[in-house]
Amino acid sequence: MDFDTLFNAQLDALKKEGNYRYFAELERKAGKFPRAGKYTDGEVRDVTVWCSNDYLGMGQNPKVVAAMCEAVQRTGTGSGGTRNISGTNHDHLLLERELADLHGKESALLFTSGYVSNWAALSTLGSRLENCVILSDSGNHASMIEGIRHSRATKVIWKHNDVHDLEMKLRSIPGDVPKIVAFESVYSMDGDIAPIREIVEVAERYGAMTYLDEVHAVGMYGPRGGGVSEELGVADRITLIEGTLGKAFGVVGGYITGSAALCDFIRSFASGFIFTTALPPAVAAAARTSIAHLKVSEMERAGQRRQVARLKAALDRAGIPHMKNDSHIVPVLIKDPVKTRMLADYLMREWDIYVQPINYPTVPKGTERLRFTPSPLHTDADIDHLVNALSVLWKQCAVSHAVA
Ligand code: PLP
Repeated sequence: MDFDTLFNAQLDALKKEGNYRYFAELERKAGKFPRAGKYTDGEVRDVTVWCSNDYLGMGQNPKVVAAMCEAVQRTGTGSGGTRNISGTNHDHLLLERELADLHGKESALLFTSGYVSNWAALSTLGSRLENCVILSDSGNHASMIEGIRHSRATKVIWKHNDVHDLEMKLRSIPGDVPKIVAFESVYSMDGDIAPIREIVEVAERYGAMTYLDEVHAVGMYGPRGGGVSEELGVADRITLIEGTLGKAFGVVGGYITGSAALCDFIRSFASGFIFTTALPPAVAAAARTSIAHLKVSEMERAGQRRQVARLKAALDRAGIPHMKNDSHIVPVLIKDPVKTRMLADYLMREWDIYVQPINYPTVPKGTERLRFTPSPLHTDADIDHLVNALSVLWKQCAVSHAVA
């Protein structure tokens, strides 16, 4: 059988509908973020990254870089194994304590990524709690959806951020059935924020446990970077908080936090925890330094808020529509995969601006977009340059519309 022909047929279909993805070959430059080197045909030129999830630039923070270097010298490169076979290092435990403290929980458990933490935790909870029903927000991330699917638990989808719909669905499930309400705080593509307090109150009324993904909020919201649940003062009412070390904390890895029994339960039964090599200790040391820094430093969060507000205001003045939200994510809807790609290519080629086009399956078809993530390290001049470029593009599009 000619497998390549089968592969190519599906790739061609993807290309035809405009959803084929290709990635920029970049080299991040420590100390220069958001600048990066862009490789094209053996040449490298500087571009400004406008779509990074290293939201606060912590990936180049000198203390974080030094912590990783120190730990590599001290412990070597890898962890040596899975957590149960020689891989549990002192740095992992220090990090888990730091994370438990960040969210005010008894315990924390590390995973190799945020994706794996969602997948492992939800699939374990859903499969091992007898007759469990998982109520999942319709906007939940693929890692949560896959974890729930793998658990084979009954899944009930509630309308995105709709507490009334959630309540109707909870009401229809018998009281003695274990229920999990799974949702996110900041939704990464639209940048909207869940009504966490109201969700928690409804879940409590029906005896459901709450599972909150704070991946796009940790480090950035709350006085110590504990996420939106910390900002709202409801973290103690949430059963399980999940997060990543790969976005605002600038490193890599994922985790859950909760009661000691809950973390021990996942540790003991989750294949996504048991059967994979632990994160390198140096990664854990760098992440711990980043978290500890953001617990006490408000400078990065304040700088980010300032630049987010500045970009949103500049787009408004230029008449460039963007999705309104209360978060740090600035999506500009294009609603067509081919046009989104063209705009992104043009910004890169003519303006040295890198923004990855967002298309299906990351967002539903017809909602393709450019997604901008201003950091405290984007200067006012960077913002002016971006808005200037978009204004020129918008005018050209208006002219071509008029001609057509
Ligand atoms: N949860 C959400 C809401 C995400 O958007 C992502 C990744 O973008 C993840 C989990 C996975 O986290 P990680 O990138 O650490 O695997």
